[in-house]
Amino acid sequence: MVQETQPSAFVSEIFSSAQGEGVNIGRRQLFVRFCECHRRCLYCDTNVERTENLRIELEPGCDQFLDVPNPVGLDRLLDLIEQANRPEFAHDDLFITGGEPLLYADFLEQMLPEACRRLGLPVHLETSSDMPKAFAQITPWVDHVLMDIKLPSVTGEAGTWDEHLEFLKQIISSGTDATIKLVVNADTTQDDLDRAIAILRESGSEFPVILQPMTATLQSDRTPTAKQILGWQSQMAVALGQTVRIIPQTHKMMGLL
Ligand code: SF4
Repeated sequence: MVQETQPSAFVSEIFSSAQGEGVNIGRRQLFVRFCECHRRCLYCDTNVERTENLRIELEPGCDQFLDVPNPVGLDRLLDLIEQANRPEFAHDDLFITGGEPLLYADFLEQMLPEACRRLGLPVHLETSSDMPKAFAQITPWVDHVLMDIKLPSVTGEAGTWDEHLEFLKQIISSGTDATIKLVVNADTTQDDLDRAIAILRESGSEFPVILQPMTATLQSDRTPTAKQILGWQSQMAVALGQTVRIIPQTHKMMGLL
């Protein structure tokens, strides 16, 4: 008899915290962070390599962790997620992030239906939104997408405009909810903003749009000036005919994971 191989994934963290970005700021979420990313954004604040262990925070905010060797099998991961979803934490959502979680679309396609069944929580997905085919594999189990539109002048990478447009159309046609996030810094170009506006208009998106000023780090402070970001906000709001919000990464202000 041939034994079926258990699918596995490299997962870096499981923890309970408050969402720090986008329109869902403050919601209590159970975070599952997958390792690895195909992108190398200049401002990335996440380790995008495979980690030796999955670390699970023992209590919310305690900064002490249980290590579980990577890769983690599907059944084991589902058990760990279920154990971390303690009723006293009152999670609002399961938040799937990375790295780029869609690199694990095959794994997520198996994981999410069972996670939804066991946890009964809405699933939120954070993604660089340039892998529309991978997203199609898991769309039925995703309730909300925190979708980046990556600006080349900020990421230091080539544009992925066509992929973002296709991704956005897919979210809309599937009836999934979303937030659009643009990380901006002092180097943001007018051309990139125009391209982002063009995509949003072409797709017919009415999702909330967030301008997220890049957080200053010890290595780099390319935070946009007040004049820059207020100008971009007005410009986008007029062009799109909708509210455009400026929201920084609030979890960093509070020292949350
Ligand atoms: S897409 Fe996200 S995780 Fe990947 S390199 Fe960019 S900021 Fe980092």
